[in-house]
Amino acid sequence: MAVRPDAVARTAPITDGASYVESLRGRNLRVYFLGERVAEPADHPVIRPSINAVARTYDLAVEQPELATAWSSISNRRVNRFLHVTENTEDVVAQNRMQRRLGQLTGTCFQRCVGMDAINALFTVTHEIDRAHSTAYHGRFREFVRRAQEMNHTLGGAMTDPKGDRSRGPSEQSDPDLFVRVVERRAGGVVIRGAKMHQTGCLNSHWILVMPGMRLRSEDRDYAIAAAIPVDDPGLTFIYGRQSCDTRALEGGEVDQGNAQFAGQEAMILIDDVFVPDELIFMNGEHEFAAGLVERFTAYHRRSYVCKTGLGDVLIGAAALAADYNGVAAAPHVKDKLIEMAHLNETIYGAGIASSHEARRTEAGNYQPDDLLANVCKHNVTRFPYEMARLAQDLAGGLVATLPSEKDFEGPETGPMLKKYLKGRDGVRVEDRARVLRLIENMTMGRNAVGYLTESLHGAGSPQAQRVQIARQMKLEEKKSLARALAGIPKSEK
Ligand code: SF4
Ligand code: FE
Repeated sequence: MAVRPDAVARTAPITDGASYVESLRGRNLRVYFLGERVAEPADHPVIRPSINAVARTYDLAVEQPELATAWSSISNRRVNRFLHVTENTEDVVAQNRMQRRLGQLTGTCFQRCVGMDAINALFTVTHEIDRAHSTAYHGRFREFVRRAQEMNHTLGGAMTDPKGDRSRGPSEQSDPDLFVRVVERRAGGVVIRGAKMHQTGCLNSHWILVMPGMRLRSEDRDYAIAAAIPVDDPGLTFIYGRQSCDTRALEGGEVDQGNAQFAGQEAMILIDDVFVPDELIFMNGEHEFAAGLVERFTAYHRRSYVCKTGLGDVLIGAAALAADYNGVAAAPHVKDKLIEMAHLNETIYGAGIASSHEARRTEAGNYQPDDLLANVCKHNVTRFPYEMARLAQDLAGGLVATLPSEKDFEGPETGPMLKKYLKGRDGVRVEDRARVLRLIENMTMGRNAVGYLTESLHGAGSPQAQRVQIARQMKLEEKKSLARALAGIPKSEK
């Protein structure tokens, strides 16, 4: 068989953002957007900004290796931090610092934390399954990670199943495919079927790590499957999600896009009877480990949401610029609103970075962040960006929602009038005023509002999921005994 030139390019390790983009070309993925098959996602104007956001993670590793790479004892080389299995507490903390920086640079979801958090969760859980069942998952998994590090691949993590009737478990659904499951066991591997929802950055990845998304019982054994699938497996179909204002990228021009360069990506993955060979299977039937895997992953991923403080930094800056362009930068209420935004933003970061600082060594040898603080971080993320968006729109003024389009600014009739009447403070270009208002629109109600608001609400688990974890870990009895001791209530009393 003749080797395609693009396939050869993909066998070379990725070195930077540009070679990452090249590695995505020619994969012949089955991607659908607005009902049509996308010939080449890397060239699609709506999809490309999400690829640019991932490419930025590769470039940051070149520009600031101390921030975005780490020495890995798995492959004995420096690797991209998104592919690194943590080896000490500092590694866990450094992830958060890198996430905040990338949030500042892209103003959106840069997608790679899912894979980073998935490899750290699978690293410990495969170790634990092996100890209980004398299986060989951990060694396989290390080998998978080593190869990914060597090639500098992007990994996606796929946990959320369609779930059908939420009151029923996976094996009780009228359609058994509503959770990803093994449909056939063969010598040398298994065949899996199902779908995964809301998959951040999935078609910008090279591998998808499929994992169960909830606690499983013995009758759900076929659903206890964790495995790696190459994104270009012909059994995968990707249906691209819509994001508010995404088609502005099809109109030409760039001002109205607000952030023309970067965006997030969410797609649904259909898994139509994909064969997975043994060496890519990391859990197969050990249902009692599914809940632990979900908890490990979510503790990692929930404190990864400090990414949104990087976006918050951009939004605070945009709100301050908008006020400045309007000539009200010195007004006390404007300053106060900016202080309020900064307070909310740092409160999110405070909980996330604290969770990382409290990371503890697991028996497998990597480090696991503090679960309670991770959940508090993510719970703050479900609320504070909405308040910050409100404050940013308040500071921007109503023009954020009524500004005429870039085409109107260019029109021979309308342009001069718009430039006359939409002038702000002296010395400020009208176009700059429009650009900053479009950025605030982009982040609070446009394309990247998905990344800043809705993903903050539902990504890594909706608010109720964090409340369940907080309830489990808030040690209420211990707190009651503290209160009893100080109030002088004898231990024998309730
Ligand atoms: Fe990373 Fe944040 Fe995107 Fe999750 S939402 S993948 S933590 S950037
Ligand atoms: Fe997410």
